[in-house]
Amino acid sequence: MEIYINGKFYEKSQAKISVFDHGLLYGDGVFEGIRSYNRMVFKLKEHIERLFESAKSIMLEIPLTQGEIMKAVINTLKENKLKDGYIRLIVTRGEGDLGLDPRKCRGNATVIIITDKIALYPKELYREGLKIITVPTLRNLPEALNPQIKSLNYLNNILAKIEAVYAGFDEAIMLDSLGYVAECTGDNIFIVKRNHLYTPPQCMGTLRGITRDTVLEIARKDKISAHEHVITRHEVYISDECFLTGTAAEIIPVVMVDGRVIGTGKPGKVTLKLMKDFKELTKKEGTKY
Ligand code: PMP
Repeated sequence: MEIYINGKFYEKSQAKISVFDHGLLYGDGVFEGIRSYNRMVFKLKEHIERLFESAKSIMLEIPLTQGEIMKAVINTLKENKLKDGYIRLIVTRGEGDLGLDPRKCRGNATVIIITDKIALYPKELYREGLKIITVPTLRNLPEALNPQIKSLNYLNNILAKIEAVYAGFDEAIMLDSLGYVAECTGDNIFIVKRNHLYTPPQCMGTLRGITRDTVLEIARKDKISAHEHVITRHEVYISDECFLTGTAAEIIPVVMVDGRVIGTGKPGKVTLKLMKDFKELTKKEGTKY
């Protein structure tokens, strides 16, 4: 496996960065998870744009242009001869001293690209659906650390994940400070009620997921009415269908939330249609390499 660090490729065992890197010391950096299908990178431009937006918000200067980063991603996939892959693109603040001050890292930002294979959930869960729970850890308040910033500090989500795993579940719903549904630990959430699609708006402390945007785009084309709307747990419990979206998970049905069976207890027809259309889109759209 060849890993890209600041313009050079290193074998996995040799791919190392400084212990003084503020990405390690403070989670000071930004990242993206991207997918490629059949030698095409899906929504590459959108991911790179979000990376630059996250970086701008934390005043992290990325040492490459958007075009150069796209080329580096493509070159890393080629170097690893990956036809279908998962790409982890990371930009850290770089090496500094033990203090917080990012000025000490000036000019040291580290760009890392790791490409690998990924299977987040076993195949049968896509047929049968996930069972999830709500956990006590709230999603970060947008006023404190905006979830729109896809930063290397994922402790908020990790705490929620620990609570889910401890209770015997793979994924969890995180609420916002008012008790409304925000998103899951690594995915966005949708519900379907009477053929209408609902997902929480960004102001609820929801990452503007690229898969989420893609689902909204597909829904528009399929003439499914879709709404970005406040969602309560009650509305999730009484929904006809529920599913999660994310680059790694794609679209995965949810059939039980906090012990309540969703709809018929099987993946619903709107979910299955969106899954099918999403799969088709990944086959025909993307940046070729
Ligand atoms: N929410 C969180 C907290 C995530 O980490 C992710 C995965 N990046 C998502 C939602 C889904 O976003 P995307 O569809 O862009 O992968």
